[in-house]
Amino acid sequence: MNIILLGPPGAGKGTQAQMLVSERGMVQLSTGDMLREAKTSGTEMGKMVADVMARGELVTDDIVIGLIREKLDGSKSGGFIFDGFPRTLGQADALTTLLSEMGADLDKVVELRVDDDMLVSRIVNRANEAAAEGKPVRADDNEDSLRVRLMSYYKLTSPLIGYYHAKGLLTSIDGMGTMDEVKAGIAAALEP
Ligand code: AMP
Repeated sequence: MNIILLGPPGAGKGTQAQMLVSERGMVQLSTGDMLREAKTSGTEMGKMVADVMARGELVTDDIVIGLIREKLDGSKSGGFIFDGFPRTLGQADALTTLLSEMGADLDKVVELRVDDDMLVSRIVNRANEAAAEGKPVRADDNEDSLRVRLMSYYKLTSPLIGYYHAKGLLTSIDGMGTMDEVKAGIAAALEP
């Protein structure tokens, strides 16, 4: 089963994706993680996107589609969880094409709905906790970048909600509960 976890920054996509990986053997494809890895390993592409990411803007469709193309491997049987991808309609169309080239389909899109106030407090907490533990704080986990990230989400990514609804693939769930409550909501959404 191939699924998308859709939702604004701080909605819990990454946390929930990791649980699906450990419990269902699915493969998480997070473009955010891939871009951060490219940044820390100092590749040309990583250097190119660092400022864009720190500001909270989206990197170009070509770059993220290229990253996903490299990682999509039809032999992975547990299915893919797309986390933070697609973020634009262009990326959504590219994903359909890439999957059909592998003879695969998108099975479900789960939208995690979370209020803006909670998103801000989750991200601020994530930054504070990382700092307290002496771990690196994400360059975009600050109030200015978060405002841009939310704007990018509402302007460019939220149209995907209507798009996948029209395709009959969307289930929207409450992302405001505890980790276990959200996990149960996702499990219910993934039932055939
Ligand atoms: P994330 O870890 O998903 O919150 O992504 C962190 C940042 O990476 C985003 O704010 C964007 O700058 C960039 N990014 C991640 N995924 C994408 C994508 N699919 N399209 C464009 N930019 C992305």
